[in-house]
Formats: sequence, structure tokens, C-alpha cells
Amino acid sequence: MDNIGKVEKAGLCCGCGTCVGICPSGAITMDISKGLFIPNVEEKECLDCGICIESCPGQTVDFQSLCFEIFGRQPDDLYIGNYSKCYVGYSKDGQIRYNSSSGGVATQLLITALEKKIIDGALVTKMQKKNPLVPEVFIARTKREIISASGSKYCPVALNIGLKQLLKDNGRFAVIGLPCHIHGIRKAERVLPNLRERIVLRIGLLCSHMVTFNGTHCILKKMGIRKDSVTQLGYRGHGWPGFMSISTKQRSRYIPLIGFWNAYWHLFSPGFFTPVRCTLCPDQTAELADISVGDAWLPELKHNKVGESIIITRTAVGDEMLEIATSANAIRTIRVEQCKVKQSQLVNLNFKKKDLGTRFDFFRTIGRAVPVFYPKPTRIPPMSLLPSILRTLYTYFNIWISSHSLLANVLQYFPLPVVRLYYGIYKALSII
Ligand SMILES: Cc1cc2nc3c(=O)[nH]c(=O)nc-3n(C[C@H](O)[C@H](O)[C@H](O)COP(=O)(O)OP(=O)(O)OC[C@H]3O[C@@H](n4cnc5c(N)ncnc54)[C@H](O)[C@@H]3O)c2cc1C
Repeated sequence: MDNIGKVEKAGLCCGCGTCVGICPSGAITMDISKGLFIPNVEEKECLDCGICIESCPGQTVDFQSLCFEIFGRQPDDLYIGNYSKCYVGYSKDGQIRYNSSSGGVATQLLITALEKKIIDGALVTKMQKKNPLVPEVFIARTKREIISASGSKYCPVALNIGLKQLLKDNGRFAVIGLPCHIHGIRKAERVLPNLRERIVLRIGLLCSHMVTFNGTHCILKKMGIRKDSVTQLGYRGHGWPGFMSISTKQRSRYIPLIGFWNAYWHLFSPGFFTPVRCTLCPDQTAELADISVGDAWLPELKHNKVGESIIITRTAVGDEMLEIATSANAIRTIRVEQCKVKQSQLVNLNFKKKDLGTRFDFFRTIGRAVPVFYPKPTRIPPMSLLPSILRTLYTYFNIWISSHSLLANVLQYFPLPVVRLYYGIYKALSII
């Protein structure tokens, strides 16, 4: 049958959950396999309607026609897509800001939208209470519930399985997710017009790549913590740039996101525990969202103890939502040029935009499928080809190491400063 199974078989599934969320017969479920969410189709239940394939962002994304539909024009900027205005900002609620990933803007926008009755609820993600290593998506309908979901989840999240609930419930909703989630939502809205009526605000998170569950498991092993003893897990929060917090019945531990000696992000940056499909994604800034938020990795904010977010408004809805939140004194913003966004995401934007063509060529050379995007990923000029090939090989070598159970186990014995130095090679390569 012509269903999502073939996308998964081709290795193109991004685990977003759109197929599960919109399948009319409920034939698709999400399973965890090799550290990722993958769809599982009950063939007997499949109606062969093709809706899952039509909405799937893993196989195809026609950015060209979606941009035309959403913004009425082609992307303004090759790197960050269509935008209206760019800002740096933060939530004026100190608690929200301190406990969020960067400036707490995402959480605050949702709270304001709820309080101003723009939405009845928001599709958000938190870690499960029963199993804190696995996320759950749910519709938050109170301020407290929205706050319970704040903070980035550096693990697979099948956000769009929540579309099923949105299709059942009457009302107006916000969604918040990674670029791949937003691609799936925009595609599903095309197929199911009643979904488009319900979703009134789409907030996108800037995203270099997601991290497999094995990434978190490796950190736990490094810390000597048993998976089944974890009672709480958070990846960000506790100020800027924040800490991963892991609690067991006995004690709580905090590991910094970045820094030199024991930061955990270096284990996730150079490609270790990166899903292969993420390396084929061209979108760092959630280009199809109404409003995008990310970390403001700017030199002038480096020494801050509380975070600020990069904010990109893209549609009239995004502009209006931010205006409402700033007028209500809930969010403080400073307008910046779009080059500040690029400065804050330089390495990742180069990875997503400059090198994508080389990675596509690499995949075709080894006989693997690649997604179909319009516009097609651009080819790199011959002068830059060698560093681009080196970066590509470096990334896939690291992905290969971390996907190999024996070698991934060895990674836990590498001191994090060594991993950081190794990441330095990639950074050096990325500026050539
Ligand atoms: C996998 C991943 C990679 C990222 N990569 C980058 C990057 O390269 N550059 C950058 O600047 N920023 C990146 N971010 C975004 C950044 O970590 C913050 O999420 C962003 O700055 C928003 O911060 P905030 O304080 O406004 O959000 P908060 O107020 O903390 O709210 C975060 C919201 O995001 C939702 N959420 C969290 N994790 C996920 C997830 N995995 N899937 C779907 N929804 C989720 C939650 O439901 C919550 O509502 C990434 C985030 C993730 C999850």
C-alpha cells in the first residue's frame, strides 16, 4: 500500500508524527527504535487514502509553493527565509525567563495568547512524569500547563501526533515545534482545511538538529546514573545558557549546556547522536512559522546570567502576537537587523544552507534516498568544495560512531573537554 511505511523504509522519516496525527483510520502509531520515533503502519487498518504521504514532510517539502501560499512571495533571505522583523527579547516574568531555554519568549507568547483569549490551548511538549526520559505532547489549556512545558527537549519529539486531538476539539490553538514539525503542520493544513481553521498561531524553534534518545542515555552513562532511577530530567533552564538537570530519588545533578570542562552540548554538536534525516534538512530558523524563536548566541550577551531569545516575526499573525505581548508588558524586545540573527546562528546556518548540496551528492553517491525539496539545494562553488566534503565526512563519521552501539559506548569514556576540542575541528572547518 502507498503509505508512510515507504518513507520510513527509505530512511527519510523525521519522526514528526504528522502521519499519526492525521491518519483517518488510526492505522499508524509511533514506536521507539534505534533511539528515534518511527511510524508503524497496521496494514489491515490502512485505507490507502494517501493522506499520510501527502502531509509527510520527511519525503517532500515544496518550500517554493508553501512560501507563496503563506507569505505571497518567495523567501526574502536565502538564510532565514521570509521575515517581517527581527528582535532580541525576553519574558518580563523573571521566573519564566530563568526556567526557560533562552528568554522564555515562547512560553510567554503562549501565555499571553491564552490570557488574551486568542487561543483556547497550545500544543506543547513536556517530559513524561512516569518515564522522564521520554517526551509527551499535550494541549496546554492553563498558564500552569504552558509553564510545565517550557525548556527545550533535546530528544525526539513526535509533536504532530497531537494534531489528532486538535482535529477532535473545537477551538483555536497555537502549536510550537521544530522546523520539521512546522513543515508537517503546514502540509497537513493544506490537506485538511479544518485543521487550518483551528491553528491560529504557529511558533517555530530554531533548530540545528535533534538528538536521538541514545544521546541522553550516553550522558546518563557518563554520570553513572541508571536510566530507570531517573525521576526528573530537564535539558535547559536555571538561567543562561542553562543546565541539564537530572534527579534521582537520592540526589539532583546539574550539567552545563556549554562551557569547557563538563558541558554536555559538545557531545551533541559534532554529529554524535544526530539523526541522519536532520542532516538533510535545509531549515535552521523554522521558515514556515508565524514567528520563530531561538537562542541569542551573540557575543554581547555571552556573559549574561539570564537568557535572551532571537525572535523573527514572519506573518501578520506573528507581528500582531508579538505586538500584543509587548504592549501587555509581558515581553521586552529590541529590534535588530536580520544580520544579527545570522551572526547568532552562523555555524548552523552554514551547515544547513551552504553544505546541504554536498550532503545530498554524498547520499546519491552511496545510493541512498534524499528528500525532494523545491527549491533544490544549491551546489557549492568548486573553490569551497574541499572543506565542504571534509565537513560532510566529519559529520557522517560521527553519526556512524554514535549509531554503532559498541562505539557509542566508548564515547562515554571520552572526557568532555576532549570532545570539545574535537568539535573545535568542525568549527575551524566551517569557517574555511
Ligand atoms: C532539538 C532542538 C534544537 C535546537 N537548536 C537550536 C539552534 O541551533 N539554535 C538556536 O538558537 N536555538 C535552538 N533551539 C531552540 C532553543 O533551544 C530554544 O527552544 C529557543 O531559544 C526558545 O527558547 P524560549 O526560552 O523562548 O523557550 P521556552 O520558553 O523554554 O519554551 C520552549 C517551548 O518549546 C517547546 N519544545 C521544546 N522542545 C521541543 C521539541 N524538541 N520539539 C517540539 N517542541 C519543543 C516546548 O513545548 C515549549 O513550549 C533548539 C531547540 C531544540 C528543541
